[in-house]
Parts: sequence; C-alpha cells; structure tokens
Amino acid sequence: MNKIGIYGGTFDPIHKGHLGLAKDAADECNLDKLIFLPAYVQPFKVGKSVTNGAHRYNMIKSILKIDDRFEVSNFELEKGEISYSYDTLLEFKKLYDAKMFFIMGDDSFIQLEKWFKGKELLKKFSFIIGNRPGINIEKTMEYLNDYREKYDADITLINNKLVDVSATELRKALKTGKDVDKFLPDSVIEYINENKLYK
Ligand code: ATP
Repeated sequence: MNKIGIYGGTFDPIHKGHLGLAKDAADECNLDKLIFLPAYVQPFKVGKSVTNGAHRYNMIKSILKIDDRFEVSNFELEKGEISYSYDTLLEFKKLYDAKMFFIMGDDSFIQLEKWFKGKELLKKFSFIIGNRPGINIEKTMEYLNDYREKYDADITLINNKLVDVSATELRKALKTGKDVDKFLPDSVIEYINENKLYK
C-alpha cells in the first residue's frame, strides 16, 4: 500500500524549516508522496493577517521540483473558509487508497488535544512528528506516551535535522530588509521579490 504524508500549515512563506521536516519525514518513513496542504486560515490564527492564499500556494509550487515526492493541494484554500484538519483528513481518506500520515512539528503536536475534534484526530489518523528547535524533546515524549495511552494513537517521532526558523521571524526580517536568504529556497526568494511580498 502506498504511503502518503499530508503536511498542513500556513506556509507564509514556506521556508527551509518546513522543507527539512518534509524531506526527513519522507525519507525516514518511506513516503511515496508528500502533499503540502496550505490552510486558508488556521483555526488558531483567526484574526491574524495572512498573505493571500494564491501567493502562498505559488511559493509552495515553486519548490516542488526539489523532490519528486512533493505535491501541493489547494483543497483548503479553495474552500475559502476555516478548515478543520479532522474534516480535511476524512476527505483525503476518501480520495486516496493509501496509508495516510499527518505531518507536523512538535510545537503543534503538543497542542493537538485542543484542536477541533483533537481526540478523534488522534484516535483515527496516523502521525509523523518532527522536533522543532525550542521544544524540549522530553516534553514531546511525555505527550506522545500520553496520547498513545489514552487514544492508542499511531505516532512516529522522527529524528529530523533541526532548522531554527519560523515564518513569523522571516516576515519580520523581510519587512525590515534583513538578509534571511539562507532560510528560504531560491525560488521563494525570487517569488517574494517579484511580487513585493512582506514589505
Ligand atoms: P508562523 O511563524 O507564521 O506561525 P511557522 O513557521 O510556525 O509559521 P506554519 O506554517 O505555521 O509555520 O507551520 C506548519 C507546520 O510546520 C507546523 O506543524 C510546524 O510545527 C512546522 N514547522 C514550522 N517551522 C518548523 C521548523 N523550523 N522545524 C520543524 N517544523 C516546523
């Protein structure tokens, strides 16, 4: 059976932290395909300003050539409203005859129970989790064991290479003209410059 990773996020913009996690997840878990799933608005980011979905989608598209397992889906962007991962994953299960994994960093993972239908998410779907700089791995392990005990959750914690960057920092740095090129793929830098984003 094919293995597909679904990697949700705001990706505003997609950066090398996202790409590192995606590649390490695909390698370590032998994924056949990894689908980036940009959110229209993440439920916990309602009210915060987010770059237009078409730009975020195009930036992801520009990096797909890096790895032939990578794809992007506009499923949530097209809906044009808040999407909940639980609902999206149910829809994806119908679309693909494959084992599906939801990919995320451990900063998101330790919040999962608070997500919409978080407990059901943990019971029903499989997860690939990467460490994110700033999150203590022992804390992540505590949550992992707790979720396994309470929900019989299917979780793979990968040994990903740490990349210390966040999109929030990048947006701030770009606004003030700081050089953040080492955290962004070339095609994303070009796209940002051409479209005068984050000014
Ligand atoms: P923002 O700073 O705007 O909140 P972000 O950099 O955290 O953005 P998101 O698009 O919100 O990026 O993140 C999507 C997913 O990618 C989350 O599961 C998050 O844990 C993960 N992620 C983001 N940055 C990293 C990183 N540097 N290393 C590992 N995982 C990351």
